[in-house]
Amino acid sequence: MVEKGSVSGFYKGNSSMNSSMNSSKISTPQINTPKLDFVFYGGCPSLDLFNTLRRRKDPQHVTEDLLLQQDGLKKWLLKAQHRSGWAELLPPLHPNARNAVVSKDLQTQAIQLRSIIERLLAKDFVPEDIHTLNQMAQLKPYWQLSIEDGVLVTKHNLELESVLGLIAEDCMQLFSSNLCEKIKECAHERCGIVFLDRSNGSKRNWCSMKECGNRAKASRFAQKD
Ligand SMILES: [Zn+2]
Repeated sequence: MVEKGSVSGFYKGNSSMNSSMNSSKISTPQINTPKLDFVFYGGCPSLDLFNTLRRRKDPQHVTEDLLLQQDGLKKWLLKAQHRSGWAELLPPLHPNARNAVVSKDLQTQAIQLRSIIERLLAKDFVPEDIHTLNQMAQLKPYWQLSIEDGVLVTKHNLELESVLGLIAEDCMQLFSSNLCEKIKECAHERCGIVFLDRSNGSKRNWCSMKECGNRAKASRFAQKD
């Protein structure tokens, strides 16, 4: 079990949602629900990483950190490459990384990066966070250009460290531009998933129509009956 998220000073979103970003207390589980999986509703690497901490705001369930599972970071990336626009553009993970167990050190770095994103969302960051982001962003390069028989060839070398670098860079761009004004939290009070609202007129309210959008519809129907 981990502590509930402490996002309190969100950049943007429905004002009614901002107040709900305040942390909730550590809770006792009351309902058994199916196993959670990664979601890729964030619209960018940083927010998708942030959303690996599930049920941050759900008083009925324990908050679940999906990065803490065995090879959590690798599983997250491999799923992202099928389910998110930003990761589909990446080369495949290097076979060495694909076959290796994710080290404790790498897992810690990923969780550290996610905590920095959380503090940036809450406008509660410290200079050390910025220093760490700058350092992590240097891990990014994963293409290498070489000459083979007089021909230029690019080779990819995507390691999980490079993915942390890519997320750090995305984070730097996101929070230093007005793109951060498009960050919203799902309007469902117990969801807690954040995303970039790129819709026309900024009208997106739900992490996903399939999940919280439908839950809201169902509850409206139930109220009518
Ligand atoms: Zn939601």
